[in-house]
Amino acid sequence: MSEPEFYPEGQLIAVLTTQPLDRMLDYKAPEGGVFLGAFVEVPLGPRKVVGVVWGPGKGDYDISKTRAANRALDVAPMGADMRVFLQRAADYTLTPLHAMLRLATRAPGLSDPPSMRKIYRLGEGQPDRKTDARQRVLEALQDYGGLAFTMGELAEMAGVTNSVIKGLVKQGVVREEAAPRDTAFARLDPEYGGKTLTADQEAGAAVLRAGVQSGRYGTTLLRGVTGSGKTEVYLEAVAECLRKGRQALVLLPEIALTAEFLTRVEARFGAKPAEWHSGVTMTERRRTWKMVGQGGAQLVVGARSALFLPYQDLGLVIVDEEHDTSYKQEDGVLYNARDMAVLRAALCEAQVVLASATPSLESWTNAEQGKYQKLELTSRFGAAVLPEMRAIDMRVEDLPGSHWISPTLKRAVDARIAKGEQALLFINRRGYAPVTICRACGHQVGCDHCDARMVEHRFLKRLVCHQCGETKPMPEECPSCGVEGKLAPVGPGVERLAEEAQTLWPDARQAVLSSDLFGSARALKETIEAIANGGADIIIGTQLVAKGHNFPLLTLVGVIDADLGLQGSDLRAAERTFQLMRQVAGRAGRSERAGLALLQTFQPEHPVIRSILAGDETGFWRAQADERRQAMVPPFGRMAGIILSGGDVSQVFDLGNALARNTQPLLAIGAEVYGPAPAPIARVRGRHRVRLLVKADKSAPLQAALAQWVGQFRLKGDLRLAVDIDPQSFY
Ligand SMILES: [Zn+2]
Ligand SMILES: [Zn+2]
Repeated sequence: MSEPEFYPEGQLIAVLTTQPLDRMLDYKAPEGGVFLGAFVEVPLGPRKVVGVVWGPGKGDYDISKTRAANRALDVAPMGADMRVFLQRAADYTLTPLHAMLRLATRAPGLSDPPSMRKIYRLGEGQPDRKTDARQRVLEALQDYGGLAFTMGELAEMAGVTNSVIKGLVKQGVVREEAAPRDTAFARLDPEYGGKTLTADQEAGAAVLRAGVQSGRYGTTLLRGVTGSGKTEVYLEAVAECLRKGRQALVLLPEIALTAEFLTRVEARFGAKPAEWHSGVTMTERRRTWKMVGQGGAQLVVGARSALFLPYQDLGLVIVDEEHDTSYKQEDGVLYNARDMAVLRAALCEAQVVLASATPSLESWTNAEQGKYQKLELTSRFGAAVLPEMRAIDMRVEDLPGSHWISPTLKRAVDARIAKGEQALLFINRRGYAPVTICRACGHQVGCDHCDARMVEHRFLKRLVCHQCGETKPMPEECPSCGVEGKLAPVGPGVERLAEEAQTLWPDARQAVLSSDLFGSARALKETIEAIANGGADIIIGTQLVAKGHNFPLLTLVGVIDADLGLQGSDLRAAERTFQLMRQVAGRAGRSERAGLALLQTFQPEHPVIRSILAGDETGFWRAQADERRQAMVPPFGRMAGIILSGGDVSQVFDLGNALARNTQPLLAIGAEVYGPAPAPIARVRGRHRVRLLVKADKSAPLQAALAQWVGQFRLKGDLRLAVDIDPQSFY
């Protein structure tokens, strides 16, 4: 690595700030000078803002009026690879660079002076009076050979009150010192723990280790059926990365999964890694951000935004459950963390491992085409095999209205309970009922701000809009015709299913798992542990249960509505249904007992349902790939969604029509434009939404053409335009 560029005091520097400006600003380097990439505080009008030294100043502004940067911040400078990453990510997603920098500086107090705290270590001499308590303090400090502790830590270790320690400080026997509050994370030991791997797993681990050892970029698709031990295998890649002294990042799709995962990391490496997600306190966020930059955090476990931390030397990124839709950020900067992980790794010679039992079609195609290395773990742990899968044809089941558990499914559950095993009833719908209808006038209760129905949540005793989160109490009378007592639920949600199960199996112990029923990740974790230890006979759950929990007694999965995901026009509907059904089914029979999955369906001959039942994954992916290739849609063509929104529907459509009439930049690259059309949910939070879709050839320079196209228009008033490259969902 060459020496970073240095700008002596007074020299012109260009500074990128997080302010919504379309250019860099010139400043004079502050006292003491700055390095390229340094974080600085600069004056902007009457304010002070944080920025990064991005290069030499342009000097196209009166030099005598150019202000000086106030100071360089006490944090590690941003590396060259990170600056290139932000620039490339901005270009790819058509996001202004300042918005990317904001993503990369989401930690509080970066410009604060380093905050200090008091620590205590062994001083000199002996106390004037020896008591048991004082002796315990001295022993605790001696035991750790000169290490320093906070007052709280020391008091707890010695089992004394704070005043005992303060007394010793007065006499100089214990020394009080000031130390920076943000400290390095505990060292992880790659040789600490580690399960004995099967031959299959060891072979996979060896491939991943070799990748890390190469010190070069490479992406591996690690496919492993549920229970094949893919976590153990990729943790070996993390171990190798730690041995090489480089940093590793593990991305997880759900915060709910982090607690369980951290326990596994601790068992493997002897200490907890740094965490980065919305559940982490502000103080911990700042510590993690700083330590990642200084090399004081070897491993980060986090949500998608952890990709934008200022790693000093990132050597490995694991994207667990890489097909999960939550990797796509659908608000603000629209990016897909899986794709950005690959970009970031390519820029810093790091390895990427995309892990999944049911990969996305994009990753499957990249592996088929040889762009990614392919690694398969086939055997499951222990004797268990993938569950047998069968359809229950709902057209021939005898089921009264407003009931959803078929007689066939009921008999299967009965049999499991009789044997002391567990059954899971799965429905991918939160709340009590998806629709509330008035039996007097037919009115469906909708959200006041969105074109979406309100969903009854009986547990909360409220109606909830799943689009905008608005809630209101269940009305007594119909909001439309005013008749009282006629509002009725239509269709099942997880809460209503639980009610039905209660009447069918009054003596069985039930557990309901739905993301909105738990106040905290801890409460959820406790419930999951209780279920795993046999604390329930019947589990009723949403998508939450499809992910990564191990229930050894679970041998039956009943999918209440296997057709649910197949409705709608989403490009990925089939793919998602296939992934979800396989994942849910994989919950059954993870230990020694054989599992069975029963899918209730009204269309057992549907090709997607048939390939799920046949377990023919390769056949399914091939068929999906063929369909998409013919339609020229991702991953075989390129797509972008344009969402226009505003308070006035005619203004939004006017802009949409103007865009559709002036498509020269897109025609020049052979792209096609569809729309404007109302978005599938045409109103969200009171804003009307109109969508255009752009389709282009795989090799077409889409971003440049899009930028030119939308750049023709100035947005007036409250109109907004968002470009979504590679859209994942079409709402
Ligand atoms: Zn009514
Ligand atoms: Zn709403």
